[in-house]
Amino acid sequence: MVGDRPVGVRLVQIGPDDAVPALVGGDLAAEDHNRVASGDRTRHPEFELARWSAAHLTPEERAAATVYTSGEHCPMCAAAHAWVGLGRIVYVASSQQLAGWLGELGVPAPPVRTLPVEEIAPGVVVDGPVPEFTERVRQLHHRFHRR
Ligand code: ZN
Repeated sequence: MVGDRPVGVRLVQIGPDDAVPALVGGDLAAEDHNRVASGDRTRHPEFELARWSAAHLTPEERAAATVYTSGEHCPMCAAAHAWVGLGRIVYVASSQQLAGWLGELGVPAPPVRTLPVEEIAPGVVVDGPVPEFTERVRQLHHRFHRR
């Protein structure tokens, strides 16, 4: 398969008074996209951002950060997110939705079970799916896997 899967994330630092930030609010700290086309299938942007935040942010900054992502974290990334103490996750499409779409497209199941973030990282505040944007993410995956 050629190309990186259509997944993008951004890590946003918000002030302590921003209890409910806008979808893209606060100061953008870092952003990344999927790099699995390199041949290393652990190169998920959520995992990269967790490691970046451990190297560049204080524990307090990580706890106050929100990670916005097009797709819910996989178990590997949810674990990394929790281990480095990052804050809230906002995802557009759930892992369950993605698994359904990939199944429709005949894409082989991943080698790791898809589980909700809450099952891997019960202390992390998670919001999603975001219905206003879910169809756009579904279309991105359809375009990617149909080419
Ligand atoms: Zn992942």
